[in-house]
Amino acid sequence: MKTFLTFTPREIPLLIFHMSTFSELLRQWYRDAGRNLPWRDTNDPYPVWLSEIILQQTRVEQGMPYYLAFLQSFPTIGDLARADEHEVLKLWQGLGYYSRARNLMKTARIIADEYAGKWPSTQAELQKLPGVGPYTSAAIASFCFNEAVPVVDGNVYRVISRLQAVTEPIDQAEGKKKISELAHVLLSAEHPAKHNQAMMDFGALICTPKKPKCEDCPAQTICESYRRGIAEELPIKQRKIQTTERYFPFLVFRDRGGILMYQRANRGIWSSLWSFPVLDLSANRLEKPAAVHREFEKLIGRPFKLKKRIPAGTHKLSHRELIIEFWEGVKAHSELMAQEASTTEINAVLLTPEQIEQLGVPKPVEKYLKSGI
Ligand code: SF4
Repeated sequence: MKTFLTFTPREIPLLIFHMSTFSELLRQWYRDAGRNLPWRDTNDPYPVWLSEIILQQTRVEQGMPYYLAFLQSFPTIGDLARADEHEVLKLWQGLGYYSRARNLMKTARIIADEYAGKWPSTQAELQKLPGVGPYTSAAIASFCFNEAVPVVDGNVYRVISRLQAVTEPIDQAEGKKKISELAHVLLSAEHPAKHNQAMMDFGALICTPKKPKCEDCPAQTICESYRRGIAEELPIKQRKIQTTERYFPFLVFRDRGGILMYQRANRGIWSSLWSFPVLDLSANRLEKPAAVHREFEKLIGRPFKLKKRIPAGTHKLSHRELIIEFWEGVKAHSELMAQEASTTEINAVLLTPEQIEQLGVPKPVEKYLKSGI
């Protein structure tokens, strides 16, 4: 990584000063106030990788039970490599982005089969594994093999842009380049593991997205945005994420003690999970129940009688907000209907609550089932 390419002559002396002091201040703070996390007391890549993949989805408090459950079910990478996909998806349930769970299995199998269970030790090699990007590979390479590579995620973007008062938008090429260079400059080559771990905690506990705790900050004396009083205005983003609203009605069709379920395709939202029949419609269809009813009948290949519509709030994705509703239906004109739940557009089957319990289901379906409606 070439450095100092994007800095003005005025900025360079400040940078050199930062290089020698920031990492030291950071690591000192980390020794006293860092988080005590189970994947930090090891240089075994397996728990480090597992934690990083889970934390791509969620905050530490929410991710911890998933991490512990995975390690309990699959104590080694070999155990995960031999795991059944349904079991892995079931454990992953609620974390979303199921392609990541499948990449978890692919990587486990590659490590077990192609690397004889021994992880590659460089960021460059690690990045070739499915689902392992620059951040995760830097975390594994630095924590487990002491490679001097910085972790760079949203936290690090924020900390660095404030520390150095970077005013270029961090979602544009110039801003990204500058932050990446700074991350390399600020990294301690002797202590990359501790530096990176400290950086993660510092962004989560001190230099927080809203109301950074500047008064308690060990880097306050060298923080340029604090000096200028612009800490809370940084980082700057140019692009606002546009979210679109979609209407997702689920049909809860009950018959002979079972509920109609189908396995979703191996792509897109909730891929491969078992779901109630569901439609993906524009938000204005919420007001057109008769048309939605007809679409459901086409989807499941049979007429049904609607008992109740239950609004269930929204489900947020990165670019979409789903308006969730449950339609409770029972069969109509039973004499005309086939005994088995064969369908025209989806291969749905009637499953008992006990069978559903064993399967990975989308979060809204899980919530509905737990609510015992
Ligand atoms: Fe972040 Fe404030 Fe510390 Fe600067 S002084 S690094 S803005 S917490």
